[in-house]
Amino acid sequence: MHDKSIAELSAGLKAGEYSSVELTRHFLDRIAAHDGQLNSFITVTEAGALAQAEAADARIKAGEAGPLTGIPIAHKDIFCTRGVRTSCASKMLDPFVAPYDATVVTNLAAAGVVMLGKTNMDEFAMGSSNETSFYGPVSNPWDTDRVPGGSSGGSAAAVAARLCVAATGTDTGGSIRQPASYCGITGLKPTYGRVSRYGMIAFASSLDQAGPMTRSAEDAALLLTGMSGFDPKDSTSIERPVEDYAAALGKDLKGLKVGVVKEFFGDGLDGGVAGSVQAAIDALKKLGAEVVEVSLPNSGLSVPAYYVVAPAECSSNLSRMDGVRFGHRCEDSKDLMDLYERSRSEGFGDEVKRRILIGTYALSAGYYDAYYLKAQKIRRLISDDFKRAFEQVDVLVGPAAPDTAFVKGAKSDDPVAMYLSDIYTIAVNLAGLPGMSVPVVPAGGLPVGLQIIGNYFEEGRLLNVAHQLQLATDWHQAAPAGFA
Ligand code: GLN
Repeated sequence: MHDKSIAELSAGLKAGEYSSVELTRHFLDRIAAHDGQLNSFITVTEAGALAQAEAADARIKAGEAGPLTGIPIAHKDIFCTRGVRTSCASKMLDPFVAPYDATVVTNLAAAGVVMLGKTNMDEFAMGSSNETSFYGPVSNPWDTDRVPGGSSGGSAAAVAARLCVAATGTDTGGSIRQPASYCGITGLKPTYGRVSRYGMIAFASSLDQAGPMTRSAEDAALLLTGMSGFDPKDSTSIERPVEDYAAALGKDLKGLKVGVVKEFFGDGLDGGVAGSVQAAIDALKKLGAEVVEVSLPNSGLSVPAYYVVAPAECSSNLSRMDGVRFGHRCEDSKDLMDLYERSRSEGFGDEVKRRILIGTYALSAGYYDAYYLKAQKIRRLISDDFKRAFEQVDVLVGPAAPDTAFVKGAKSDDPVAMYLSDIYTIAVNLAGLPGMSVPVVPAGGLPVGLQIIGNYFEEGRLLNVAHQLQLATDWHQAAPAGFA
């Protein structure tokens, strides 16, 4: 059952071949059997899942089921879930039980999904390897000595290992696409504003966006339709009707203009990854796409600009974790300053502290113009690059990450090497565009992702390109040994 697509499972549920309770039990058993090796879940909500599955079965019997009704999924532990611990993988929020659901959670629950639990992640979504979690690192199911990528590494590992049908993730600088690439799954970061951020614990508010992490583009289309939409509770959510993304999957690629981003094939790109990405581009050509080279001349500035903007926003967002309003509180504080200082020192991990320090510095009166304002100007140059590119082509392609999953610990002492994991994804967040990663030919036995970037609100086009590629190839169907 765990190898089937959402559409196949939904058909099986409607035909009465199995119930949602049986399906949910099956995945709960898989989590119990396999997650000891992976650590992809922080919390498993067994009783809640079985109750939701029973309700889904009743809906199916009554003939009121939609395409997601009764499908077991997992949520990244960054989404508030009412009555369930919402930790953001931080000691700071370890005991926090959210009093309300994030809109993504509400929307998917209304569509009838079953929540199996909350997945592990980098602390407050800061990281590219899932090694900064308070609950310990996540292992990559393709090689458990390696990282799954981050920050949505728990979701990526759980989907790849078939411990859930699909999962939600969030992407501020690459946290859906890079782990999707490392774990051999399909991940989509939507246009900024397509999916509500309400109840999604904020890291960098002008960049954060939630999206689906699935095995196929077809599953991603169904999940995206279920999670997106205008939300009056999020002032940056966009008032635009939700598309039926699954209905957009039928077009062939003849005449599709594909731009290969020249700057994404320079120094720093692993040779094996380059070969795999090239094979995928050749496959697109065979399907009728016209491939041309395109330049994004300012993309080299994206990592430095991001590491000013994201820390600046995080230093402000995380100020609420002060031991008074939210978060861990130290014992026996002498006075208010002592309470703040010790609560924050004890509650946050090293990477989060580094970001808060950088961000506070960049926003301080004497440095604001030199850093924050300058980074915002670079951000504009980067969006202008994309604007020009989309005057020439329909989609852009390149690698999602410069390498394959690395061995745990390999980059832990070198934050800059870690930051460069997102060298091809960050520009997309700075511009607010949609982007996805789809599995292509592995390199050295490890998964590789092709990144496909679209113009604003062209999620349907991206999903169709990925779907056509997945109809013609079987790269996305490979399962890691031991988890098939
Ligand atoms: N790896 C990047 C960072 O550490 C991106 C994280 C993300 O997208 N949440 O900030």
